[in-house]
Amino acid sequence: MFSYHNHSNLGDGFASPEEQLVSAYNHGISEFGLSDHYCIWFDGSTPGFSIKDIDNYFNVLLKLREVYAHKVKVKFGVELENLPATLEEESEVLKKYPLDYIIGGTHFVDDWPIDSYKEWWTVLGPEEIDRRIKKYWDAHYKMCKDGDIDIVAHFDTYEKWGPLVDNDYTEYFVECLKVCKERGLATEINTAKKTSQVNAFYPHNEFIELIAEYDIPVIISTDAHYPTHVTRYMSEAKELFGKYNIKRIARFENRKMLIEYVKF
Ligand SMILES: [Zn+2]
Ligand SMILES: [Zn+2]
Repeated sequence: MFSYHNHSNLGDGFASPEEQLVSAYNHGISEFGLSDHYCIWFDGSTPGFSIKDIDNYFNVLLKLREVYAHKVKVKFGVELENLPATLEEESEVLKKYPLDYIIGGTHFVDDWPIDSYKEWWTVLGPEEIDRRIKKYWDAHYKMCKDGDIDIVAHFDTYEKWGPLVDNDYTEYFVECLKVCKERGLATEINTAKKTSQVNAFYPHNEFIELIAEYDIPVIISTDAHYPTHVTRYMSEAKELFGKYNIKRIARFENRKMLIEYVKF
């Protein structure tokens, strides 16, 4: 089992990289990757959830790779923040580091956080919600098309609390899938939402079905911020492979995708 989308207290997680790794190993993970947020804010600073000292981040990872070499393969990742204003600058910085993969995630519309509080959405009313969701898709599409990334994170971030409006955004999603297909990007089935009041994956099932139809390689992510979350709902996510006929699992090394075919 692989686990690539994990956070630590070098970003916004609640355990050290080593604690996260040890938990992964104890839960039977053979390849563990850390992917703390990397974000340069509009004013050039790094916000609270981001890796603050990027050199230190990779030094810690290099050390872990050395110490745990006989137990688990340690992969170097980041979750790159898709802020249109600073995305290129962020990508430039990351070029200097020995990354295995970059996960691209959109957590903001302009400087407004999408996945903080449900009330911040519901207070807006349906028209404004729709406008912001469309803005989200616009930014997310641009990242899929041009971003220096390998894996697209949680496609419908705004559905953290379930659907906010009745509108159907499938056409926006399909446009993203088409460019992912063209560019050879992977995406994730993210289990983080299974623990909230919404018993669903990111993205929701109809979108997962389309991922399979377009044959986009996937990783199963737990988006763990705690050691107890490193393998949460992974087996439930795996059941979707058979249900939707997902054929290809992605692994990464030095920013190259290695494909494993699903065995049924
Ligand atoms: Zn994320
Ligand atoms: Zn994450």
